[in-house]
Amino acid sequence: MALAGRPGLLLLDPFFPALSRVPIAHHVSGPSNCTFDGHPLIGKFTALAGFFALSGCNGAGIAISGGAGRLLAEMVAGATCFVGPDIFKPDRLPDFDPFAPAFLAQCVAVRSGKTAG
Ligand SMILES: Cc1cc2nc3c(=O)[nH]c(=O)nc-3n(C[C@H](O)[C@H](O)[C@H](O)COP(=O)(O)OP(=O)(O)OC[C@H]3O[C@@H](n4cnc5c(N)ncnc54)[C@H](O)[C@@H]3O)c2cc1C
Repeated sequence: MALAGRPGLLLLDPFFPALSRVPIAHHVSGPSNCTFDGHPLIGKFTALAGFFALSGCNGAGIAISGGAGRLLAEMVAGATCFVGPDIFKPDRLPDFDPFAPAFLAQCVAVRSGKTAG
């Protein structure tokens, strides 16, 4: 598959002119999520006994994977956490409609202000 002519490539072309000639077998993309407060969900879901999750990584899941994985492992093991875990509590999420315009606007605002990760 050649990428020549793809709209997004026009923006990259001045910087990486060879990219349009590179044969690429597959490329995958999709929406990069964002939570309402910019923090991922890491920890125990009280509504479901024994269920832990690590999600909502706000387009930074690769960058934070080492620390996030360590934190989750410490939680599961009942060990002392190396960072304060409260800001990541899955239960901090309100009962919300994920498609409500006000909620989506809040997520977009947080995402737009992202400066790292
Ligand atoms: C467009 C985009 C750009 C990004 N850019 C960056 C970046 O620059 N830097 C960065 O750090 N992070 C970035 N991220 C975020 C990062 O890719 C994710 O946070 C990270 O991949 C999450 O890893 P994960 O293993 O938790 O989940 P995933 O990588 O989503 O893996 C979950 C897996 O579970 C599988 N699965 C789902 N449901 C089921 C089921 N019922 N049964 C079996 N399998 C199932 C899925 O197929 C998938 O393979 C980006 C994300 C997107 C979408």
